[in-house]
Amino acid sequence: MVYYKTQEEIELMRLSNLMVSKTHAEVASFIRPGIPSIKLDQIAEEYIRDNGGVPGFKGYNDFPYTLCMSINDEVVHGMPGTRELREGDAVSVDCGVILNEFYGDSAYTYCVGEMKPEIIQLLKVTKEALYLGIEQAVVGRRLGDISGAIQKFAEGKHGYGIVRELVGHGVGKSLHEKPEVPNYGRQGTGPKLKKGLVIAIEPMINLGKRHVKQLDDGWTIATRDGMVSAHFEHTIAVQEKKADILSTFEYTEEAIKKNSELTALV
Ligand code: MG
Ligand code: MG
Repeated sequence: MVYYKTQEEIELMRLSNLMVSKTHAEVASFIRPGIPSIKLDQIAEEYIRDNGGVPGFKGYNDFPYTLCMSINDEVVHGMPGTRELREGDAVSVDCGVILNEFYGDSAYTYCVGEMKPEIIQLLKVTKEALYLGIEQAVVGRRLGDISGAIQKFAEGKHGYGIVRELVGHGVGKSLHEKPEVPNYGRQGTGPKLKKGLVIAIEPMINLGKRHVKQLDDGWTIATRDGMVSAHFEHTIAVQEKKADILSTFEYTEEAIKKNSELTALV
């Protein structure tokens, strides 16, 4: 079943997502070539616990880390480890937090150092696709309007591959609630969106073909053709005229601008 949230619950979820967003900023301030991804995971966990939250992914289905870190051809669910980040890496960081019983969930793909223009373009388009999806998340529209807007832009206009196997989701006291929110679909189809629906919209867009595989670690999803993938995610609440975006990229984009080791998308 779908759990619609009261305004009071949405305000609690805003706080969970604010912590996620600030954790991203904290992580972004430390990203640089040479840093092992596990170090960033430790920084994130410490930040969340210091601020009274609980890492939302750690222990979820036995995932052992605070962050999912997916580098270059890795799409999502990458595991932090001793691998050091390198100049030119596209690093998707996905973070979840539990605060006041509610989950926050948001992802951003960072550019370490100088990036190839084609990768910067992929990241910009993926981020824009996310916002085009969010624009559709208002009362009276249908779920397929969100999916269709993302697909039309990323695949139709830009010719990128859209991952089918993984999708956005409802979020609340569980990390993954109904409904599923695919990044592909037909506008005008699917259930009508109602006030209080809280969903994580998260396009996963590949520079090459859409097909993915799971790596031997049992978690990491990577592109089959080895080309780069991008991932951006916000948690939003459906409202009457305009979606209420509960997570924000504001803090992390400030941190990116201050960090000379990162290339900003804006
Ligand atoms: Mg996420
Ligand atoms: Mg998610």
